[in-house]
Amino acid sequence: MPAIIPIPAFSDNYIWLVREGSRAAVVDPGDAGPVQDCLERENLTLTAIIVTHHHGDHVGGNAALLARFPVPVFGPARETIPGRTHALGEGDTITVPGLGLVLRVLDVPGHTAGHIAYVSDDPRAPVAFVGDTLFAGGCGRLFEGTAAQMAASLAKLAALPGETLAYCAHEYTLSNLRFALAVEPGNAALRERQVREQGKRDRGLPTVPSTIAEERATNPFLRAGEPAVFAAAQAHAGRTLADAVDAFAVVREWKNGFR
Ligand SMILES: [Zn+2]
Repeated sequence: MPAIIPIPAFSDNYIWLVREGSRAAVVDPGDAGPVQDCLERENLTLTAIIVTHHHGDHVGGNAALLARFPVPVFGPARETIPGRTHALGEGDTITVPGLGLVLRVLDVPGHTAGHIAYVSDDPRAPVAFVGDTLFAGGCGRLFEGTAAQMAASLAKLAALPGETLAYCAHEYTLSNLRFALAVEPGNAALRERQVREQGKRDRGLPTVPSTIAEERATNPFLRAGEPAVFAAAQAHAGRTLADAVDAFAVVREWKNGFR
């Protein structure tokens, strides 16, 4: 399994560098500068660009990187991705050039209409690059999709093996957990997680990746059907909710206005 290293970009993005020896691929290079700095510093050759969705903070560095390294660009078939050479959707599998890493593609619409995620099923080190769909302790905003789509996308990610490391694209964890505690104050695993993640941030460390098991236990957006989260959503909405998707929609709206 290659090493996976965060390259901080903008104010709170992570560009993930996947490295094997002197070769590396990048996931969602919103900014070419920090990627180029890292490649030069570590004396690495770029072999591929891997993209989850079309937002500028995920693809803004493609053109400048391609000018220097004319590499394949893997991205969602249903979105416009600068320089894309491989248009992907659910059921596709790629082998990342130079790394031998096999990634399976999942359609995870909701944040954007064509958002995809990449999953390695390697039992020694299962990983998922989830873009802006699943965040540590949260989920992406619904810019182009419906609550039902996003809930289904998150359920797909939640069904991955619990030890799968989920690599999302933003450091939003502490504010996500603050919201999660407002929804589910009685969740002991959530309270423990908040202390642990606060400790990482105090030491200047990323809180990402997290495990799918951790997300299932503490992320309110994966827990809309759990009695405590469902009840909190009903109380917040002030009405009887029909099902978990309804509760998910309420929790997503609640978070949008949460300060
Ligand atoms: Zn986005």
